[in-house]
Amino acid sequence: MPTAWVARWTQGSGGPVIALGSDIDGIPKASQTPGVAYRKPMIDGAPGHGEGHNSGQAVNIIAALAVKDLMQREKINGTLVLWPGVAEELLAGKAYMVRAGMFAGVDAVIFTHVGDNLGTAYGPGSGTGLVSVEYTFTGESAHAGVNPWRGKSALDAVELMNQGWNMRREHLRLSQRSHYVIPDGGDQPNVVPSTARVWYYFRETDFENIRLNFEIGNRISEAAAMMTDTTVTRRVLGYAAPQMFNRPMAEAAGANIALVGLPTWTADEQAFAKAVQRLAGGAETGLSTTLRGVTPPQPAPTNGGSDDIGDVSWAVPTISINYPSNIPNLPGHNWVNAIAMATPVAHKGVIAGAKVVAMTSLDMLLDRSLLDRAKADFAEQGRRQKYEPLLRPEDRPKIEMNGDVMARYRPELRKFYYDASRYPTYLDQLGIKFPELAPTAAR
Ligand SMILES: [Zn+2]
Repeated sequence: MPTAWVARWTQGSGGPVIALGSDIDGIPKASQTPGVAYRKPMIDGAPGHGEGHNSGQAVNIIAALAVKDLMQREKINGTLVLWPGVAEELLAGKAYMVRAGMFAGVDAVIFTHVGDNLGTAYGPGSGTGLVSVEYTFTGESAHAGVNPWRGKSALDAVELMNQGWNMRREHLRLSQRSHYVIPDGGDQPNVVPSTARVWYYFRETDFENIRLNFEIGNRISEAAAMMTDTTVTRRVLGYAAPQMFNRPMAEAAGANIALVGLPTWTADEQAFAKAVQRLAGGAETGLSTTLRGVTPPQPAPTNGGSDDIGDVSWAVPTISINYPSNIPNLPGHNWVNAIAMATPVAHKGVIAGAKVVAMTSLDMLLDRSLLDRAKADFAEQGRRQKYEPLLRPEDRPKIEMNGDVMARYRPELRKFYYDASRYPTYLDQLGIKFPELAPTAAR
């Protein structure tokens, strides 16, 4: 994976190994200027951030630097590891990292994810796991006007597969969620499409039902191929295990969350948040002022989303800490979700998150019984359920996936990289006076 890396620092020998992770990627077509409460792409059509993953590494780097200083001053043995969640929006990174042994020898993973409050959770995650799979149909082209009977339409096969899946949906468990896009639907109307591709996410809440829905999808794809005299192949593009978070670690983090608390927001920050909520059609409640803290396991999933931190949670005792760098009530996977990044809202949230990560890392380094209890909880989790990813040995990360888009936009994006030697903040570089609630005539 060309954008993956691991940073590691060790003091002494025999100390615990604590790995700090956070996702780094964005989504297509979400380019947006931060700090302004109106639509203003930085580059039309370019990828952008649809959650605020661009704030996560700052949380972990600040925490790691602070803990490193304390480890040196207090002569605490241990290892700190920093790692990125690559291509999380495609669920295309962490299952491969786990399979490649990246977490071998790691004692605990403290993961962070941008949110609108300060909190963590233990037990089964509130969301789903999934398998991401692309079906490619191959037929035969023909002149669609002159000899349509000579053609075998791969697009017909895609449409029949989708029709089949959409009928079948009603007869699946309520906990499933599934969606598709058609990356290739043919070239032009007068050519019977000889190839077509459809890309599915099959989401469910446990390993078995992810696999069962994947198998149903595979059968429907084969049936669609049969109906159209085309052929079908499939490729697994990503996988996310259902999540299982560590209770002793979550409780340790919870005590730190209570100590750190939410940032104190200014009137300007609240006015900005409400303007963005109005823009997005969300409830205008402003920034969170009631601390979330530790969420116990929910009786039923409350969220259909996935994160491949699930895979890591089956390899190492793991928690995920949400930090308050974003605005509540936004749609998610939308350009509005990154407006708060680079503003004082995001910066305050990052500092709060970094404090919790640093304090919890220190707890893990200093309190052997906490580490032992975390490992016992993890062992118990493994006795109840086995990690069963759907990756076959021949499945490899599809690192070429966004190659075309990035080749097209990277030169344009580069012009917007932050130059810390010239500007004290990124908003200064962009010439934005926070909070900018409406377009100004000058620009
Ligand atoms: Zn995310």
